[in-house]
Amino acid sequence: MKEKKAIKFETKVIHEGYDAHKHSGSLVPPIFQTSTFIFESAQQGEKRFAGEEEGFIYSRLGNPTVKMLEERIAALENGEAALAFGSGMAAVSAVLIAMTNTGDHILCSQGIYGCTFGLLEMMNEKYKITHDFSAMETREQLLEAIRTETVCIYVETPINPTMKLVDLQMVAEVAKEKGIPVVVDNTFCSPYLQNPISLGCDVVIHSATKYICGHGDVIAGLVVGTKEFISKVAMTTQKDIGGVISPFDAWLLLRGLKSLAVRMDRHCENTEKLANYLLEHPKVEKVYYPGDFRNSEYEIAQKQMRKPGGMISFTLKGNKETAQSFMNNLEMIKIAVSLGDAETLIQHPATMTHAVVPRESRKNMGIDDSLLRLSVGLESWEDMRDDLEQALEKI
Ligand SMILES: *Cc1c(COP(=O)(O)O)cnc(C)c1O
Repeated sequence: MKEKKAIKFETKVIHEGYDAHKHSGSLVPPIFQTSTFIFESAQQGEKRFAGEEEGFIYSRLGNPTVKMLEERIAALENGEAALAFGSGMAAVSAVLIAMTNTGDHILCSQGIYGCTFGLLEMMNEKYKITHDFSAMETREQLLEAIRTETVCIYVETPINPTMKLVDLQMVAEVAKEKGIPVVVDNTFCSPYLQNPISLGCDVVIHSATKYICGHGDVIAGLVVGTKEFISKVAMTTQKDIGGVISPFDAWLLLRGLKSLAVRMDRHCENTEKLANYLLEHPKVEKVYYPGDFRNSEYEIAQKQMRKPGGMISFTLKGNKETAQSFMNNLEMIKIAVSLGDAETLIQHPATMTHAVVPRESRKNMGIDDSLLRLSVGLESWEDMRDDLEQALEKI
């Protein structure tokens, strides 16, 4: 790109980080399917290892296809630099391990991804790095939860699967006063709907497996932050733990990204229509959707999200068995975990994604046994509605 001025998201998502003229004019970025890179001389090798000359060394330390993806995601999240990983959890673990030492404390939003919870438990058991949860509803509540040992505030918003929101600007302001970095898992929004760095947060993580890939065929993760932080992660937890992404998977993400804005618009449009349908249905008890103006989350959604997203959770009038037979009645909608794919997916958090969370904690997080989570896909919303309708009729 010749000029950097005010390029819109929809353009960056297609062009950023790739210059075709450096690659024989290939319209599409090439896949550098190589493990290592040849030095022109022993001295060049020495300089590259010493960091005195830019250039690739070995694909665990960097790869041209992967670098294109990293530059693109950094631009989309308005960050200085980025790193790609072999999974969302490789990204989460690389960040949290890089940030903490024995005795430190991590303050988390009220709900976090199940395996992130598992990682924090492990870090506590093995390395005495403790964690707590806070609803972060007000400044006062957040200030009260911060300890002298707190080195990181870790937030997911919307929170999975209850779709509760955290006010990122408020959290960033409090954290700044205290000198504590804020890490946001932005998976549920994708960079199209929410940009935590622009709201004052420090680090953004994505499970790129979800909306960024968008086609259900890759497991991958991304981290965006300052040059200083990203280079620290690159030189420590990424290099030495080694959860890197393959060049082919990076290429698939560059491919998926091109349609992100278009896909998200359709995901959001379909979701709003289905949420309105479910809100009216007599067999539906409660709908959790940030775009519902009757919902207390609505104002925060308006403030920090471009649109309310592609996820809905809802409870049926009944119990676990009602929820399960409803799922079994569905025909077009598929029963599966994960989200952000073209296919509409439904899952039952109490027995699937959050089965590891003890029943009592699940209750505290608002995860009822009849709660269902729907990742609204790109099919015709009328076909989705008809499928929900016939499945609801049968219960
Ligand atoms: C899926 C997910 C992860 C983990 O990502 P993987 O790519 O499966 O390792 C982390 N956070 C959130 C919010 C997720 O949905």
